Amino acid sequence: MSPTLHPRLEPVRETILKRNPGEAEFHQAVDEVLMSLGPVLERRPDYVEASIIERLAEPERQIIFRVPWVDDQGRVNVNRGFRVEYNSALGPYKGGLRFHPSVYLGIVKFLGFEQIFKNSLTGLPIGGGKGGADFDPKGKSDAEVMRFCQSFMTELYRHIGEYTDVPAGDIGVGGREIGYLFGQYKRITNRYEAGVLTGKGLSWGGAAARTEATGYGTVFLTQEMLATKGRSFDGTKVVISGSGNVAIYAAQKVAQLGGTVIAMSDSGGYVVDEKGIDLEIVRDLKENKRARISEYADLRKQSTFVADGSIWEVACDVALPCATQNELSADAAKTLVKNGCIAVAEGANMPTTPDATDILQEAGVLFAPGKASNCGGVAVSALEMQQNASRDSWSFEHTEQRLETIMKGVFERCQSTADEFDVPGDYVKGANIAGFVKVADAMLALGVV
Ligand code: NDP
Repeated sequence: MSPTLHPRLEPVRETILKRNPGEAEFHQAVDEVLMSLGPVLERRPDYVEASIIERLAEPERQIIFRVPWVDDQGRVNVNRGFRVEYNSALGPYKGGLRFHPSVYLGIVKFLGFEQIFKNSLTGLPIGGGKGGADFDPKGKSDAEVMRFCQSFMTELYRHIGEYTDVPAGDIGVGGREIGYLFGQYKRITNRYEAGVLTGKGLSWGGAAARTEATGYGTVFLTQEMLATKGRSFDGTKVVISGSGNVAIYAAQKVAQLGGTVIAMSDSGGYVVDEKGIDLEIVRDLKENKRARISEYADLRKQSTFVADGSIWEVACDVALPCATQNELSADAAKTLVKNGCIAVAEGANMPTTPDATDILQEAGVLFAPGKASNCGGVAVSALEMQQNASRDSWSFEHTEQRLETIMKGVFERCQSTADEFDVPGDYVKGANIAGFVKVADAMLALGVV
């Protein structure tokens, strides 16, 4: 049964859609949360009276700015930068920056909205925000990326700070970009305010295991979910879309837990390697050479590269979509079900379309929404902020241990909330409700602000 909207939420939804025209991804993210909230409002009419949902859907602040920069040929380019400071009821705005040509306000708002609930679920004191630019780092030289990042920060710096808003990475923003951004922030403000950005390098305020955290966290959460059916990663075949930060470290943890990753992708296609993807090759291609996944097949002769088609056609036990939004369609979900897939966990944000989610859940496939399964990254970012505030630095093992404990706590919150609201095993509703209630209670306590 597809979820339906509670009648009290129909006018709320209509107002939100009308106020934010042409922002399909944002509408989709709002719909998914609203579909889960009916049972909560039955119990908590005070949320309705205080217009909590209307207030939550409206960002506290939206910043859009010009980012001019000069390329290697001396031409002046102009991009558009964004930072949406969505909700600070639980702590400073926290969420990544995405550099990708598809970025526009609707994408940033969908990501920022999701981030509120995700951050709440971690149990850590962080609000929600997101940002980015319609800049494409692909094919740009290091010097061009540096000039772009410096120009971006020359505007952004006045809006952020360790107690205000703490950006991090996302698609197209990794350690290199965070370095250039932090360098410019430090230069403009004349402050070594390490806690203003997370995802920093280890020698300049970064946290051990932050690079690995989102991928590892996704796998830790999936492990908890599999355990409810008496299963584990040991001996499973796993398909992971993407070959960026989240995908690579999800693959690494799957292998450590005894699973075999048999396919990975990028926007050019996917590779299948039934003996198990050689992650060192992928890391070298992606982290050092910034090359295409197709080159994997040139280096590993037993593998095949498929330029067209869907990675979800590769039969697997566990599917981890770790690339981008709406990459797993209804057709893909049907194929996964047909091939006997037992679990899907979202490493990316909103990679599964709503109809695909319905198909998977109705077929009894274990399904973890990104809010729960990819919150390990922001959780370790919050641990990075803790270390920066105390001028401390923890070991990899200690941080990974904390991450695993956090992910167990997140899963437990999703599971117990789903049970409490009579939807056992529905981790989408469990995550949405658990994330929402904590923020809503804080907003009630803080008054109309
Ligand atoms: P990266 O930029 O490191 O990697 C993104 C990967 O996804 C690349 O392999 C890229 O291929 C692929 N990809 C991007 N767009 C498309 C597309 N339209 N079609 C097919 N493949 C595509 O990003 P991350 O790994 O950091 O982020 C991946 C996802 O995880 C995003 O949804 C992000 O929001 C989410 N996420 C990331 C977190 C983090 O800590 N980094 C935290 C929580 C969520 P190509 O290079 O060809 O574009």
